Amino acid sequence: MIIHPSLLHTQMSGIRMMAQRAAEKKHPVYALTLGLPHIPTPEHIVRAARDAAQTGHTVYTPNAGLPALREAIADYMHKKYGLHYDGLSEVLVTHGATHAIDAALRTILTPGCDVLLPSPAYPGYEPLIRLCGARPIAIDTSASDFRLTPDVLAQHITPHTRCLILTSPSNPCGTAYDQDTVRRIAHVLADHDMMVLSDEIYSELVYDRAHTSIASIPEMRPRTIVVNGLSKSHAMTGWRIGWIAAPASIAQHITKVIQYSITCACSISQHAAYAAVTTGTDDALALRTLYAAHRDITCTALRSIGCDVVRPDGAFYVFPNIRHFGLDSMTFATQLLDAQHVAIVPGSAFGPHGEGYVRISYACATADLHEALARLCAWARTL
Ligand code: PLP
Repeated sequence: MIIHPSLLHTQMSGIRMMAQRAAEKKHPVYALTLGLPHIPTPEHIVRAARDAAQTGHTVYTPNAGLPALREAIADYMHKKYGLHYDGLSEVLVTHGATHAIDAALRTILTPGCDVLLPSPAYPGYEPLIRLCGARPIAIDTSASDFRLTPDVLAQHITPHTRCLILTSPSNPCGTAYDQDTVRRIAHVLADHDMMVLSDEIYSELVYDRAHTSIASIPEMRPRTIVVNGLSKSHAMTGWRIGWIAAPASIAQHITKVIQYSITCACSISQHAAYAAVTTGTDDALALRTLYAAHRDITCTALRSIGCDVVRPDGAFYVFPNIRHFGLDSMTFATQLLDAQHVAIVPGSAFGPHGEGYVRISYACATADLHEALARLCAWARTL
């Protein structure tokens, strides 16, 4: 039996592992583990899907997605983030952002090249990079409030570097890049022949300022592949709709990966997505307001037990330092689950630079958040 060598060393995601452990408990658990909004998909989107299914929109679509949806996504990105893409030649609909990342990496990576990964990082990238035969190069960002600095970036670029993955806002840290930093990062990249994969899946959940995409910088647009989608903004994780925006010269090749890997995204979900990006452009506003308040509640509670916390700019995660409790992150998370029925994710799930931290998702009902934090704090004080 022959298995791809990179899979022999790939573990199941630590996020899923903790969620699974929580689900196996016989008693109710306050789950602050998974990365999904706590509300259902907006009703008008569900209705659009039902209508599509009932009126026969149940067949293959073009590989790149429904033309009307791609044009609507281009319009959405222009109005929201000032990005200019031609819907028909530069926007591709994918099976969630996960598939967008996979298709983009498979298009640009070749064996032996390097991908820079500011870390702690979303655990979805590394296995896909390795499957391409490429090498993930983790860059520790913990000394700079979990933000890649232009100087540190410059130190890590070599002739082997093919791509930088920039996740803003970040999973697991919630930190985002402001316009000035994005400009300075772009300035460093200008001297090098490399791409950026800009993962903007949390772009609708930036709290205190507008979201900045590195693709909005004219010199970066030709070598940036933007990944986005509806999983987080529209509570649509199960509908599996993401997208890629990239220059036509790159998009035409990514389309081939989409064709041969999935044919097309689900037709019914694409009709739902059309409703989301046309009549549902403000659907994330209420969530953004609520989660900004949850961020503040969570940071205040964690500081009260002595945790160093970088205040998140967006997404719905906080990544506190738990080293002063004297437990590694897996032991901390496991004991908390067993003792207090509160599930969180050990920082080690986000690579070696995540050890010493835990990820808390505050995408839950406010009352549940208060109870879970009260339990966590009371327990931590006994350590
Ligand atoms: N990118 C980041 C940073 C994420 O956190 C996630 C999901 O948690 C994804 C991509 C995947 O999103 P999707 O569910 O649309 O595949």
